[in-house]
Amino acid sequence: MSFAHILAVMAVSVTVTGAAVAQQPTLNVYSARHYQTDEALYDNFTKATGIKINRVDADDAGILARLNTEGSASPADVILLVDAARLWRAEVGGLLQPVQSKMLEARIPAHLRGKDSGQGSSWFGLSTRARVVVFNKASVKREDVDTYEKLGEPKNKGRLCTRSGSHPYNLSLFGAMQEHLGPQATETWLKGLVDNMARTPKGGDTDQILAVASGECTVALANTYYLARLMRSEKPQDKAAIEKVGVIFPNQASFGTHVNIAGAALARHAKNRIAAQRFLEYLVSDQAQIQFADGNNEWPVVPGVRIANPALQALGSFKSETILISVVGMNQVKIQQMLDRVGYK
Ligand code: FE
Repeated sequence: MSFAHILAVMAVSVTVTGAAVAQQPTLNVYSARHYQTDEALYDNFTKATGIKINRVDADDAGILARLNTEGSASPADVILLVDAARLWRAEVGGLLQPVQSKMLEARIPAHLRGKDSGQGSSWFGLSTRARVVVFNKASVKREDVDTYEKLGEPKNKGRLCTRSGSHPYNLSLFGAMQEHLGPQATETWLKGLVDNMARTPKGGDTDQILAVASGECTVALANTYYLARLMRSEKPQDKAAIEKVGVIFPNQASFGTHVNIAGAALARHAKNRIAAQRFLEYLVSDQAQIQFADGNNEWPVVPGVRIANPALQALGSFKSETILISVVGMNQVKIQQMLDRVGYK
C-alpha cells in the first residue's frame, strides 16, 4: 500500500467518523443561570441520552439581545432564564415557542408555567426560590418586620436596604404585591420603602445580608438560595454573619411569601425541537430536581421530590403565595413607572 493510499484511507475513515458524530444532535442551550453547580445537570443528560450540550452563558439581557440579533438564524434550542419577569420579557419579545408535553404539564404546577394558549406553555418553572426578609437580631424585633407591608411602615425608618428596585427579583416581588394589594396601595408601600432606606440601593442580595449582619442597615430582602449559600459556607466570616441575622418568611398569616422561579423555554427558531423537549423533560426528572436543590439551594418545582439539603431543611416549610407567576411579568411595566414616581433607585 502506497503512502498516498494510506492517506486516502485515513481521509475516508475521518469523513465517516465525522458523519457519525454529526448525526448526534448537539443541543444549543443559552443559559443565564449563574450557578457553577449546574455542570453536573448537563453532564448527566448527555450520559443518559448521548445528546451533547453546547452551552452559551450570558446574563439575561445578553441572551435576549443575542437572540434578537440572530433572528431566524439563531442556533439556540433551549433558553434558561432566572426569574419570571425575564421569562415574560423573552415571551413577549417573540423569542420563545410553546411546548406541548404531558410530562411537563403533569410534573410542574400550572401556576409556575407560562401561559398556554392551546399549544402548550410558553415557558416552564424548574425550581423555586422565596424572597424573604432578613433582619439584624440584635436591633430589630421579628414582629416589626414579619410582613412585606411592615417594611414600608414609619417604625422601620432608616433600617432598610435592598438591591436596585429595577432588578428583576424586586420587580417580580413588587409585581406580586400589586396582585395582592392593588396598584394604589402598592405605590404607597413602595414610597414607604424608599422613605425607610438606610442607604441608596446597591449591590446584590448577598451584599444586603452582609450589610444587615454588619449593622449598616438592619432589615433587607433576599432570595433564599443566597441565604442558604451563606448558611452552608465554611468561611468564618460567613458563619459569623449568618449568626447575626434572622430570617422571616413574610405574610404567613395572609397571602404567603413571594416565590419566584428559574425556568426554561424552547427557543423560537430551535432546530432540534425533539432533543430540546427531551432536555426540558429531563430537567423535571427527580434526579435533576434534586440537583437544583443540592447544587444551588433551590426548591424542586415538582411536588414530593425529597431533598437532603441541610440549609433548605433548616429554613423549613412555609406558606407561599399562589398567584400565577406569569402575572408578575405582566405587571413589571407598571411597577417600573411607580418606582420612577416614588424615586426608588
Ligand atoms: Fe440570583
